[in-house]
Amino acid sequence: METTPVRRESIGLMIMTITEGRWTGPIWDTHLHLDPNGRGVSAAKDFANAGGTHLCLVHKPGFPSNLPESINAVKQAYIGTLEMANAVRREVGIDVRVILGPHPVVWEKQIHTLGLEKSSQLHIDSVALALEYCAEGQAVALGEVGRPHYPVSDEIWDAANEQLEVVMHMAAQADIPIQLHVEDNGAQTNAELAAICDRSGLMRKRAVHHYATANVGESFTHGLSSSVSMGKDSLSTIMETYRHCSSTWTMETDYLDDLSRPGAVLGPKTVPKRTQALVSNLLGTIDAEQTEDLLHHVQSIWPSALYGEIDP
Ligand SMILES: [Zn+2]
Repeated sequence: METTPVRRESIGLMIMTITEGRWTGPIWDTHLHLDPNGRGVSAAKDFANAGGTHLCLVHKPGFPSNLPESINAVKQAYIGTLEMANAVRREVGIDVRVILGPHPVVWEKQIHTLGLEKSSQLHIDSVALALEYCAEGQAVALGEVGRPHYPVSDEIWDAANEQLEVVMHMAAQADIPIQLHVEDNGAQTNAELAAICDRSGLMRKRAVHHYATANVGESFTHGLSSSVSMGKDSLSTIMETYRHCSSTWTMETDYLDDLSRPGAVLGPKTVPKRTQALVSNLLGTIDAEQTEDLLHHVQSIWPSALYGEIDP
């Protein structure tokens, strides 16, 4: 397809452009895990070789058997994630933003081993520690926090929701965005989360629904931001809903870097691939300038607003 190259000066000195139907600006995967016992840096290389430029490296909880039982153990685990980020920066040369936090599933599992009180205290202490790393500039967001994605007792469910409100309040006070791991109950889940945001003082936009479905329309998201899981079918839903978005959305794989489950999740090349596919879909329906404008938001303005400006 013939397209006119469009250029625009933007954040910093970076020039955004679509040339010959391809996006040549930044490409963010806003939720990916790397494991020192998995592919680690080489998975990040795949992302970079496919055209990826920015990664949100999300702390990986030690499922199933390596769960930290003290705040000191949590700290060691966080340091492991920070070291992985440094290794990727050094060896791959891409921009890595770290997201630290205690996983809600770890909290739920540890209720049955440590008890509710101890597990909850460890969870809140781990949030506070993650926010310290954010304050120091070593991490940019809190996550993944949220609530169990599977059925639990009423008592645990109520505790999870009360705790999430506290966690959101802590994030709001620190002015730090959060990535949410939650159950998949469609718009109902988002409506409930939006209500907890409002009670806690956290702006809905600063609460990012991770592993979000591709419906980015306001009536579905209730104003939460989405980190959209970019599976094969995501593009058609994005094409149907992006005009109705009132918040922000970005793209993710939730790559797990688990050698025992290859193919269980999206691979590290997925977001660069889908980004280019989105461009060609858009160019079939809107002009190059409008396409560039949307890409500019998804791959630069919105992730920068959440996770920090892009270095020129
Ligand atoms: Zn994840």
